[in-house]
Amino acid sequence: MATKPNHVYTINFTVKAGDGTVMDSTDGNEPFSYIAGTSSVLPKLEEEVGNMLISTKKSLILAPEDAYGAYVDEAVQVAKPENFPADADLKPGMEFIATGPEGEQMPFHILKVEDEGVTIDFNHPLAGETLTFDVELLDVRPATEEEMSHGHVHGAGGHQH
Ligand code: ZN
Repeated sequence: MATKPNHVYTINFTVKAGDGTVMDSTDGNEPFSYIAGTSSVLPKLEEEVGNMLISTKKSLILAPEDAYGAYVDEAVQVAKPENFPADADLKPGMEFIATGPEGEQMPFHILKVEDEGVTIDFNHPLAGETLTFDVELLDVRPATEEEMSHGHVHGAGGHQH
């Protein structure tokens, strides 16, 4: 068994951080669908789900390097408050996007707000976390031509348009 490119995978999942906190879940929502090979989900998750049989469940443990990367201390920096919009009510946990030297989008979140500076963190909020994915594979089907040209799934669990 291997992941079939250009196929729509439909799953139920619950993802937990290292301390057991539920970070995201389809529980109580529509199942989640993605097209394999379009970088819609973590590559390791896609690979593991590709080895599952329909109607089976599996608990997958993803080390940080297979999830959102190691936590990099250097990615924590202090910015001047005046670098933020004047009307922004800065609080820990707020997310912003900075533009890098080459125009790249660099998301970050605020850790601490003090008069002398705002401590910001460019690490992904789940960096350094070992994640547990409880996955149930519901369906695998070929993506339609329209879905392939849009790059996303239509209908249940996908875009409704
Ligand atoms: Zn579409």
